[in-house]
Amino acid sequence: MSRIVVAGSLNADLTIYCERLPSPGETVHGNDFAVNPGGKSANQAVAAARLGGQVTLLGAVGADPNGDMLVASTAGAGVDVSHVARVSRPTGVAVISVDTAGENSIIISAGANATLAPEHMDPALFAGASVVSLCLEVSLDTVQAAAQAGHDAGATVLLNLSPFAPVAQELARLTDVLLVNAHEGSQFLGGYDMPAADAPANAWHGALEEFVRHGLNKVLLTLGADGSVVLDATNSAAPVVRIAPTVVQAVDTTGAGDAFTGAVAARLAAGDSLVDAARYASVAAALAATKKGTQAAYPSSGEVAARL
Ligand code: ADP
Repeated sequence: MSRIVVAGSLNADLTIYCERLPSPGETVHGNDFAVNPGGKSANQAVAAARLGGQVTLLGAVGADPNGDMLVASTAGAGVDVSHVARVSRPTGVAVISVDTAGENSIIISAGANATLAPEHMDPALFAGASVVSLCLEVSLDTVQAAAQAGHDAGATVLLNLSPFAPVAQELARLTDVLLVNAHEGSQFLGGYDMPAADAPANAWHGALEEFVRHGLNKVLLTLGADGSVVLDATNSAAPVVRIAPTVVQAVDTTGAGDAFTGAVAARLAAGDSLVDAARYASVAAALAATKKGTQAAYPSSGEVAARL
Protein backbone atom coordinates (compact mmCIF):
# COMPACT_ATOMS: atom_id res chain seq x y z
CA MET A 1 0.00 0.00 0.00
CA SER A 2 1.57 3.31 -1.07
CA ARG A 3 1.25 6.57 0.79
CA ILE A 4 -1.65 9.05 0.59
CA VAL A 5 -1.22 12.73 1.49
CA VAL A 6 -4.39 14.61 2.47
CA ALA A 7 -3.86 18.37 2.80
CA GLY A 8 -6.56 20.72 4.10
CA SER A 9 -9.20 21.22 6.75
CA LEU A 10 -10.07 19.88 10.19
CA ASN A 11 -13.29 21.14 11.82
CA ALA A 12 -15.34 20.42 14.91
CA ASP A 13 -18.85 19.60 13.64
CA LEU A 14 -21.50 21.17 15.90
CA THR A 15 -24.66 19.35 14.82
CA ILE A 16 -28.31 19.75 15.78
CA TYR A 17 -30.75 17.11 14.55
CA CYS A 18 -34.18 18.59 13.78
CA GLU A 19 -37.54 17.71 12.17
CA ARG A 20 -36.92 20.14 9.31
CA LEU A 21 -34.30 22.76 8.42
CA PRO A 22 -35.25 26.38 9.29
CA SER A 23 -36.05 28.84 6.48
CA PRO A 24 -34.32 32.26 6.58
CA GLY A 25 -35.59 34.24 9.59
CA GLU A 26 -37.24 31.18 11.13
CA THR A 27 -36.44 29.42 14.43
CA VAL A 28 -37.28 25.73 14.80
CA HIS A 29 -36.97 23.38 17.77
CA GLY A 30 -34.13 20.88 17.43
CA ASN A 31 -33.60 17.47 18.97
CA ASP A 32 -30.16 16.14 20.01
CA PHE A 33 -26.99 18.23 19.81
CA ALA A 34 -23.60 16.63 19.15
CA VAL A 35 -19.98 17.77 18.79
CA ASN A 36 -18.04 15.47 16.46
CA PRO A 37 -14.72 15.50 14.62
CA GLY A 38 -15.11 16.66 11.01
CA GLY A 39 -13.67 18.89 8.29
CA LYS A 40 -13.49 17.58 4.74
CA SER A 41 -9.79 16.73 4.78
CA ALA A 42 -9.82 15.12 8.23
CA ASN A 43 -12.85 13.11 7.07
CA GLN A 44 -11.13 12.04 3.85
CA ALA A 45 -8.03 11.03 5.82
CA VAL A 46 -10.02 8.97 8.33
CA ALA A 47 -12.11 7.31 5.60
CA ALA A 48 -8.96 6.31 3.68
CA ALA A 49 -7.15 5.07 6.81
CA ARG A 50 -10.17 2.98 7.95
CA LEU A 51 -10.06 1.29 4.56
CA GLY A 52 -6.38 0.38 4.91
CA GLY A 53 -4.73 3.49 3.44
CA GLN A 54 -1.40 4.75 4.79
CA VAL A 55 -2.33 8.42 5.26
CA THR A 56 -0.44 11.60 6.20
CA LEU A 57 -2.64 14.62 7.04
CA LEU A 58 -1.33 18.18 6.56
CA GLY A 59 -3.43 20.78 8.39
CA ALA A 60 -3.82 23.09 11.39
CA VAL A 61 -5.97 23.18 14.52
CA GLY A 62 -6.09 25.49 17.55
CA ALA A 63 -4.61 24.81 20.98
CA ASP A 64 -8.12 24.11 22.31
CA PRO A 65 -10.34 21.14 23.22
CA ASN A 66 -11.75 20.91 19.66
CA GLY A 67 -8.18 20.64 18.37
CA ASP A 68 -7.47 17.86 20.90
CA MET A 69 -10.61 16.02 19.75
CA LEU A 70 -9.61 16.24 16.07
CA VAL A 71 -6.04 15.09 16.61
CA ALA A 72 -7.27 12.20 18.77
CA SER A 73 -9.87 11.15 16.20
CA THR A 74 -7.59 11.23 13.15
CA ALA A 75 -4.64 9.65 14.99
CA GLY A 76 -7.02 7.05 16.43
CA ALA A 77 -7.96 5.99 12.89
CA GLY A 78 -4.26 5.46 12.12
CA VAL A 79 -3.60 8.75 10.29
CA ASP A 80 -0.11 10.28 10.65
CA VAL A 81 -0.86 13.64 12.33
CA SER A 82 2.71 14.76 12.90
CA HIS A 83 2.15 17.55 10.33
CA VAL A 84 -1.07 18.88 11.84
CA ALA A 85 0.10 22.17 13.40
CA ARG A 86 -1.28 23.62 16.64
CA VAL A 87 -1.75 27.37 16.05
CA SER A 88 -3.04 30.39 17.99
CA ARG A 89 -6.35 30.66 16.05
CA PRO A 90 -9.34 28.61 17.29
CA THR A 91 -9.98 25.24 15.66
CA GLY A 92 -12.30 25.48 12.65
CA VAL A 93 -15.98 24.74 13.28
CA ALA A 94 -18.92 23.69 11.12
CA VAL A 95 -22.41 24.48 12.41
CA ILE A 96 -24.64 21.78 10.92
CA SER A 97 -28.38 21.13 10.91
CA VAL A 98 -29.65 17.69 9.87
CA ASP A 99 -33.34 16.98 9.27
CA THR A 100 -35.19 13.68 9.63
CA ALA A 101 -34.70 12.91 5.91
CA GLY A 102 -30.91 13.12 6.46
CA GLU A 103 -30.70 16.42 4.49
CA ASN A 104 -28.31 19.01 5.93
CA SER A 105 -27.27 22.66 5.83
CA ILE A 106 -23.83 23.81 6.99
CA ILE A 107 -21.98 27.03 7.93
CA ILE A 108 -18.19 26.86 8.32
CA SER A 109 -15.83 29.15 10.27
CA ALA A 110 -12.30 28.40 9.02
CA GLY A 111 -10.37 29.45 12.16
CA ALA A 112 -7.03 27.62 12.27
CA ASN A 113 -7.61 26.21 8.76
CA ALA A 114 -7.03 29.72 7.40
CA THR A 115 -3.42 29.57 8.61
CA LEU A 116 -2.55 26.62 6.33
CA ALA A 117 -0.41 28.35 3.70
CA PRO A 118 1.42 27.44 0.47
CA GLU A 119 4.77 27.38 2.32
CA HIS A 120 3.49 24.51 4.47
CA MET A 121 3.21 22.34 1.33
CA ASP A 122 6.83 21.23 1.61
CA PRO A 123 7.74 19.01 -1.39
CA ALA A 124 9.59 16.67 1.02
CA LEU A 125 6.23 15.78 2.62
CA PHE A 126 4.87 14.63 -0.75
CA ALA A 127 7.88 12.51 -1.76
CA GLY A 128 6.83 8.90 -2.34
CA ALA A 129 3.09 9.67 -2.21
CA SER A 130 1.00 7.93 -4.85
CA VAL A 131 -2.23 9.85 -4.16
CA VAL A 132 -2.82 13.42 -2.94
CA SER A 133 -6.35 14.33 -1.87
CA LEU A 134 -7.56 17.94 -1.68
CA CYS A 135 -10.74 19.97 -1.08
CA LEU A 136 -11.64 23.68 -1.00
CA GLU A 137 -12.00 24.30 2.76
CA VAL A 138 -8.54 25.94 2.86
CA SER A 139 -7.21 28.80 0.72
CA LEU A 140 -7.05 28.25 -3.03
CA ASP A 141 -3.35 29.25 -2.97
CA THR A 142 -2.67 26.44 -0.49
CA VAL A 143 -4.67 23.95 -2.57
CA GLN A 144 -2.73 25.02 -5.66
CA ALA A 145 0.63 24.57 -3.86
CA ALA A 146 -0.41 21.12 -2.61
CA ALA A 147 -1.57 20.10 -6.10
CA GLN A 148 1.75 21.27 -7.53
CA ALA A 149 3.75 19.37 -4.91
CA GLY A 150 1.67 16.25 -5.51
CA HIS A 151 2.02 16.57 -9.27
CA ASP A 152 5.79 17.06 -8.99
CA ALA A 153 6.01 13.94 -6.79
CA GLY A 154 4.25 11.93 -9.51
CA ALA A 155 1.16 11.34 -7.36
CA THR A 156 -2.43 11.15 -8.63
CA VAL A 157 -4.01 14.45 -7.54
CA LEU A 158 -7.67 14.21 -6.42
CA LEU A 159 -9.60 17.47 -6.05
CA ASN A 160 -12.99 17.49 -4.33
CA LEU A 161 -14.47 20.79 -5.51
CA SER A 162 -16.30 21.43 -2.27
CA PRO A 163 -17.43 23.83 -0.94
CA PHE A 164 -17.65 25.11 -4.52
CA ALA A 165 -15.37 27.94 -5.66
CA PRO A 166 -14.27 28.79 -9.19
CA VAL A 167 -10.76 27.38 -9.68
CA ALA A 168 -7.95 28.72 -11.85
CA GLN A 169 -7.10 26.84 -15.05
CA GLU A 170 -3.72 26.08 -13.51
CA LEU A 171 -5.32 24.12 -10.64
CA ALA A 172 -7.53 22.23 -13.10
CA ARG A 173 -4.41 21.34 -15.10
CA LEU A 174 -2.74 19.89 -11.97
CA THR A 175 -5.84 17.85 -11.08
CA ASP A 176 -5.88 14.22 -12.25
CA VAL A 177 -9.34 13.36 -10.95
CA LEU A 178 -12.06 15.90 -10.11
CA LEU A 179 -14.68 14.77 -7.56
CA VAL A 180 -17.94 16.71 -7.60
CA ASN A 181 -21.62 16.27 -6.84
CA ALA A 182 -24.00 17.17 -9.69
CA HIS A 183 -24.50 20.72 -8.39
CA GLU A 184 -20.76 21.45 -8.07
CA GLY A 185 -20.13 19.84 -11.48
CA SER A 186 -22.74 22.06 -13.06
CA GLN A 187 -21.27 25.18 -11.38
CA PHE A 188 -17.75 24.23 -12.53
CA LEU A 189 -19.04 24.04 -16.10
CA GLY A 190 -20.66 27.49 -15.84
CA GLY A 191 -24.23 26.30 -15.27
CA TYR A 192 -24.18 23.22 -17.55
CA ASP A 193 -27.43 21.27 -17.41
CA MET A 194 -26.38 17.87 -16.00
CA PRO A 195 -28.35 14.82 -17.19
CA ALA A 196 -30.99 13.50 -14.78
CA ALA A 197 -29.82 10.73 -12.45
CA ASP A 198 -31.87 8.16 -14.41
CA ALA A 199 -30.55 9.28 -17.83
CA PRO A 200 -28.86 6.56 -19.92
CA ALA A 201 -25.04 6.39 -19.84
CA ASN A 202 -24.70 8.03 -23.27
CA ALA A 203 -26.43 11.19 -21.96
CA TRP A 204 -23.24 11.84 -19.97
CA HIS A 205 -20.96 12.06 -23.02
CA GLY A 206 -21.83 15.75 -23.47
CA ALA A 207 -20.87 16.48 -19.85
CA LEU A 208 -17.56 14.66 -20.32
CA GLU A 209 -16.82 16.75 -23.43
CA GLU A 210 -17.47 19.90 -21.39
CA PHE A 211 -15.13 18.77 -18.59
CA VAL A 212 -12.42 18.01 -21.16
CA ARG A 213 -12.92 21.50 -22.62
CA HIS A 214 -12.30 22.83 -19.06
CA GLY A 215 -9.05 20.83 -18.77
CA LEU A 216 -10.32 17.75 -16.89
CA ASN A 217 -10.07 14.25 -18.37
CA LYS A 218 -11.28 12.28 -15.36
CA VAL A 219 -14.29 13.18 -13.23
CA LEU A 220 -16.18 11.28 -10.55
CA LEU A 221 -19.66 12.72 -10.29
CA THR A 222 -21.61 11.72 -7.18
CA LEU A 223 -25.41 11.63 -7.28
CA GLY A 224 -26.35 11.05 -3.63
CA ALA A 225 -28.82 8.17 -3.27
CA ASP A 226 -28.63 7.66 -7.06
CA GLY A 227 -24.99 6.50 -6.98
CA SER A 228 -22.29 8.01 -9.18
CA VAL A 229 -20.85 8.33 -12.69
CA VAL A 230 -17.25 7.82 -13.81
CA LEU A 231 -16.28 10.09 -16.71
CA ASP A 232 -12.86 9.23 -18.16
CA ALA A 233 -11.80 10.63 -21.53
CA THR A 234 -8.57 8.57 -21.40
CA ASN A 235 -10.58 5.31 -21.36
CA SER A 236 -11.76 5.08 -24.97
CA ALA A 237 -13.40 1.68 -24.40
CA ALA A 238 -15.62 3.00 -21.58
CA PRO A 239 -15.50 6.79 -21.20
CA VAL A 240 -18.77 6.79 -19.21
CA VAL A 241 -19.52 4.21 -16.51
CA ARG A 242 -22.65 4.58 -14.40
CA ILE A 243 -22.22 3.16 -10.86
CA ALA A 244 -25.55 1.96 -9.44
CA PRO A 245 -26.39 3.15 -5.91
CA THR A 246 -25.94 0.93 -2.90
CA VAL A 247 -29.40 0.93 -1.35
CA VAL A 248 -29.32 1.77 2.36
CA GLN A 249 -31.51 3.41 4.99
CA ALA A 250 -29.81 6.83 5.14
CA VAL A 251 -29.76 8.45 8.59
CA ASP A 252 -27.19 11.24 8.09
CA THR A 253 -25.52 11.92 4.72
CA THR A 254 -23.15 14.56 6.23
CA GLY A 255 -19.64 13.60 5.10
CA ALA A 256 -20.82 10.95 2.60
CA GLY A 257 -18.93 12.81 -0.15
CA ASP A 258 -15.77 12.83 2.01
CA ALA A 259 -16.14 9.10 2.67
CA PHE A 260 -16.42 8.64 -1.11
CA THR A 261 -13.26 10.72 -1.77
CA GLY A 262 -11.27 9.00 1.00
CA ALA A 263 -12.29 5.58 -0.28
CA VAL A 264 -11.27 6.48 -3.85
CA ALA A 265 -7.88 7.65 -2.50
CA ALA A 266 -7.40 4.39 -0.57
CA ARG A 267 -8.31 2.18 -3.52
CA LEU A 268 -6.27 4.13 -6.11
CA ALA A 269 -3.28 3.90 -3.73
CA ALA A 270 -3.90 0.14 -3.53
CA GLY A 271 -3.72 -0.08 -7.35
CA ASP A 272 -7.40 -0.19 -8.37
CA SER A 273 -8.60 1.27 -11.67
CA LEU A 274 -10.70 4.45 -11.41
CA VAL A 275 -13.91 2.49 -12.07
CA ASP A 276 -13.12 -0.16 -9.44
CA ALA A 277 -12.18 2.56 -6.94
CA ALA A 278 -15.48 4.37 -7.61
CA ARG A 279 -17.50 1.15 -7.22
CA TYR A 280 -15.82 0.49 -3.87
CA ALA A 281 -16.27 4.13 -2.77
CA SER A 282 -19.95 4.03 -3.64
CA VAL A 283 -20.47 1.22 -1.12
CA ALA A 284 -18.25 2.87 1.51
CA ALA A 285 -20.11 6.21 1.21
CA ALA A 286 -23.53 4.56 1.35
CA LEU A 287 -22.55 2.72 4.55
CA ALA A 288 -21.28 6.03 6.00
CA ALA A 289 -24.78 7.49 5.47
CA THR A 290 -26.38 4.79 7.64
CA LYS A 291 -25.02 6.23 10.92
CA LYS A 292 -25.04 9.67 12.56
CA GLY A 293 -21.92 11.81 12.38
CA THR A 294 -19.09 11.65 9.87
CA GLN A 295 -15.81 10.03 10.93
CA ALA A 296 -17.44 7.76 13.53
CA ALA A 297 -19.77 6.48 10.78
CA TYR A 298 -17.04 5.51 8.31
CA PRO A 299 -16.83 1.78 7.54
CA SER A 300 -13.88 -0.59 7.73
CA SER A 301 -12.67 -2.52 4.68
CA GLY A 302 -14.38 -5.63 6.11
CA GLU A 303 -17.75 -3.86 6.26
CA VAL A 304 -17.38 -2.63 2.67
CA ALA A 305 -16.29 -6.07 1.44
CA ALA A 306 -19.45 -7.58 2.94
CA ARG A 307 -21.62 -5.28 0.72
CA LEU A 308 -19.55 -5.31 -2.52
P1 ADP B 1 -21.99 15.24 -1.27
O1 ADP B 1 -22.18 14.77 0.16
O2 ADP B 1 -20.60 15.68 -1.55
O3 ADP B 1 -23.06 16.17 -1.77
P2 ADP B 1 -23.37 13.01 -2.49
O4 ADP B 1 -24.61 13.42 -1.75
O5 ADP B 1 -23.45 12.86 -3.96
O6 ADP B 1 -22.12 13.92 -2.14
O7 ADP B 1 -22.92 11.60 -1.85
C1 ADP B 1 -21.67 11.04 -2.14
C2 ADP B 1 -21.83 9.55 -2.32
O8 ADP B 1 -22.34 9.01 -1.10
C3 ADP B 1 -22.82 9.11 -3.38
O9 ADP B 1 -22.21 9.00 -4.66
C4 ADP B 1 -23.24 7.74 -2.87
O10 ADP B 1 -22.26 6.79 -3.22
C5 ADP B 1 -23.23 7.94 -1.37
N1 ADP B 1 -24.56 8.31 -0.83
C6 ADP B 1 -24.96 9.52 -0.40
N2 ADP B 1 -26.25 9.50 0.02
C7 ADP B 1 -26.66 8.22 -0.14
C8 ADP B 1 -27.89 7.53 0.11
N3 ADP B 1 -28.97 8.16 0.61
N4 ADP B 1 -27.95 6.21 -0.20
C9 ADP B 1 -26.88 5.57 -0.72
N5 ADP B 1 -25.69 6.16 -0.98
C10 ADP B 1 -25.58 7.46 -0.69
